[in-house]
Amino acid sequence: MIQIHHLHKWYGRFHALRDINLDISKGERVVICGPSGSSKSTLIRCINRLEEHQQGQIIVDGIELNAKAKNVHAVRREVGMVFQQFNLFPHLTVLENLILAPMRIRKLPREEAEDLATRLLERVRIPEQVNKYPNQLSGGQQQRVAIARSLCMRPKVMLFDEPTSALDPEMINEVLDVIGELAQDGMTMICVTHEMGFARTVADRIVFMDKGEIVEIADPVEFFEQPKNERTRQFLGKILQNR
Ligand code: ADP
Ligand code: MG
Repeated sequence: MIQIHHLHKWYGRFHALRDINLDISKGERVVICGPSGSSKSTLIRCINRLEEHQQGQIIVDGIELNAKAKNVHAVRREVGMVFQQFNLFPHLTVLENLILAPMRIRKLPREEAEDLATRLLERVRIPEQVNKYPNQLSGGQQQRVAIARSLCMRPKVMLFDEPTSALDPEMINEVLDVIGELAQDGMTMICVTHEMGFARTVADRIVFMDKGEIVEIADPVEFFEQPKNERTRQFLGKILQNR
């Protein structure tokens, strides 16, 4: 579903991604972790061309991300993204947030878009919030609306960039549960997170990044029980200590 080969990215002279190689199969769930500033966000933002790479290849479902606008649009239609900050439109209700893109971009008639939105709000377990505005919802609820909004576009891949980092602790699990259910339904996903319980139970593979490089890729058991790289061990030591 996603092929990344010898990917490099620079911000000006700063070498942000260094020879990244990562292939992700259909239905696979990958967690990316690593210290702040290790280019986790940069990597997943390259996958839907929110950032441009300068060297190497990214191919999503057979479409190469390159200068062709047609390809970029095609990939963006297939890839949904959820951010740390929910990025909902504050002046629109939950329903309006959800039906906007399906109507404008997928050209669904309003009624169909509303049906879809209603089903997806049930899936993220907040059907009763349909007519509220974002600021009338808790952070956990807003993030679940953001997830439903992405799903309205019927993506083949979902990217999550620290989806629970802006939430109060008691709301983290309600969002992780929804993401976990999506994973169980077979959605291909990449999730940047430091929620190691989630990584252990949901991920097929864990990617550890440091300083713009992939340092280690392992299945969860291997990653937590026998990390190979010294930098991985240090990182795990730090975050597990902070729990
Ligand atoms: P992470 O998500 O792992 O915390 P980021 O991908 O956000 O890391 O950032 C990786 C590095 O790239 C950081 O050093 C950051 O300062 C730098 N960076 C990120 N975005 C930009 C940008 N738009 N312009 C210049 N430097 C950037
Ligand atoms: Mg980040």
